[in-house]
Amino acid sequence: MYSIAIDGPAGAGKSTIAKEIAKRLGFIYVDTGAMYRAMGLCFLRKGIDGHDRETIADLCPSIRVDLSYDGEGRQQVILNGENVTPFIRQEEVGQMASVTSAIPEVRAALLDLQRNMALTSDIIMDGRDIGTHVLPDATLKIYLTASPGVRARRRYDELCEKGIPCDLNRIEEDIIKRDQQDMTREIAPLKQAEDAILLDSSDMSIQEVVSAILEEFEKIR
Ligand code: C5P
Repeated sequence: MYSIAIDGPAGAGKSTIAKEIAKRLGFIYVDTGAMYRAMGLCFLRKGIDGHDRETIADLCPSIRVDLSYDGEGRQQVILNGENVTPFIRQEEVGQMASVTSAIPEVRAALLDLQRNMALTSDIIMDGRDIGTHVLPDATLKIYLTASPGVRARRRYDELCEKGIPCDLNRIEEDIIKRDQQDMTREIAPLKQAEDAILLDSSDMSIQEVVSAILEEFEKIR
C-alpha cells in the first residue's frame, strides 16, 4: 500500500491539494482535521469548556467518529451515527478542535481509525502529525506551509466566494492563534518530520504544488 502524508499549518491548502492528488492517483483522501472537528463539535454541542480535560477525557469512550465516502468520493464524517460534515467548517469548531486535540484521550480515540485506513487502501492523509506520528513509515511525507498573510487571504477569498461574511484581520489572528496552539502542545505537536519535504506554497499555484508532489512521488514509488 502507498501512503502520502501531508502536514502543515491551518490554511496552507493541504485539503485542496490532497484532494487533487487523490483524484490523479486514484487514492483515498483522508482529512484527519475533519475528525478532530467532529469531536470539537460534539463538545460544543454539549456546552463543555474545551479546557476541561477531565470531563472531555471521560466522555471520549462514548464518542464514535467514522468516515464514509459519497458517490463522488467525497469524505463524510459521521459523529455517533449522524453525518456532521455540513456543520464542522465554522471557525468556532476549528478553534474547539484545536484546543481539545491537545488532550491525549481525544487523540487516542482517533488514532486507530487513521492507521487502519492506511492498512487497507492507498491513501493521501492530511493533518498535523501524520508524518511524525500517525504514519511514520509513509511512502512520501510533505510539509506544506505558506506565510500567515497568504493563508489568511486564501481563507478570506474562499469564504467570500461562498457568500459568508468575514474579516481578513480576524481570520489572520485566528490562524496565528491556532498555529501557536498546534505547534506548542505537548502531544503530537505540528512540526516537520525529519524526512518530510518542505514546500512553501506562498508563491505557488495549486497546480504547481500538485505537480511538485506528484514528481516527488514518482521518484520513489
Ligand atoms: O486541518 P483542520 O484545520 O481542519 O484541523 C482542525 C484542528 O484539528 C487543527 O487546528 C488541529 O488542532 C487539529 N488536528 C490535529 N491533528 C491532525 C489534524 C488536525 O491535531 N492530524
